Amino acid sequence: MRVVRTIADLRALLRPLREEGKRIGFVPTMGFLHDGHATLIRQSAARCDATVVSIFVNPTQFGLSEDLASYPRDLERDQNICLEADASVLFLPEAAEIYPTGFQTHIEPGRLADPLCGRFRPGHFRGVATVVAKLFNMVQPDLAFFGQKDFQQTVVIRRMARDLNLPVDVVVVPTVREADGLALSSRNTYLDEDARRRALLLSEGLLAAKAAFEAGERLGTRLLEIARAPMAGVDSIQYLELVDSQSLEPIQGPVDRTAALCVAAYVGSTRLIDNVLLTPPVAAAAGSQA
Ligand code: AMP
Repeated sequence: MRVVRTIADLRALLRPLREEGKRIGFVPTMGFLHDGHATLIRQSAARCDATVVSIFVNPTQFGLSEDLASYPRDLERDQNICLEADASVLFLPEAAEIYPTGFQTHIEPGRLADPLCGRFRPGHFRGVATVVAKLFNMVQPDLAFFGQKDFQQTVVIRRMARDLNLPVDVVVVPTVREADGLALSSRNTYLDEDARRRALLLSEGLLAAKAAFEAGERLGTRLLEIARAPMAGVDSIQYLELVDSQSLEPIQGPVDRTAALCVAAYVGSTRLIDNVLLTPPVAAAAGSQA
């Protein structure tokens, strides 16, 4: 695995691969890697000839009161995880490499960035879309891998890739969870034992609603009730919403197409997000034919 810190070195490394017709996979991350990230890297390594992982804690997607300065870092551990998951290139740019003096051009996502996290993190998806577009231009991957854990992010990025004709396939990988259901997240490191117990109530609610859905419950209001019941023990729910998985508009009436049940909450001072997809069998069959 090669480690590079500049865009010039990255391009020099990737050019011959591209000229040989090699398929390049890309996994953008903010580091402090866990098995969710490793799963993305392994999937890329299985489907591509070379896999680039970037670690960049992107300042423009953090709000002023958010955890940019304290975001967890452990580069040595991250390098080992990348190596073990079969990454070929680890790209570690400094902020000045990504945003040189005078930088002023941004990607403005549309309506998909407004609901859910967009309501509570103004400017977040503008920051995400801009840095991902820049990273796509640096790496020029054939495939890029994102986790369903950040569901709205996958929808915004897919839309951006289509709208801007970016020649990359966006692959979404299911959320990796602990054995007890907690979605893996770099921010779980902030949780002490008691907070972790409360954090678990989020996945408990979502997974209960998913089980009810799979047992035949289709009423959105009822599914939301089932999800909300265990979440009463969480300090502050920012949102719990059932939305159309493509438009992100709230589902009114029965769930007759793929829906995303999404939650964001504070457990102590840690903000966590999670979601499950609810796919009616008819939509699943239609999807598998597509
Ligand atoms: P981050 O480092 O948090 O920016 O995440 C980098 C990528 O890993 C994003 O595409 C995330 O959605 C993905 N990711 C984070 N946590 C998980 C998880 N538990 N399962 C699957 N993918 C994840």
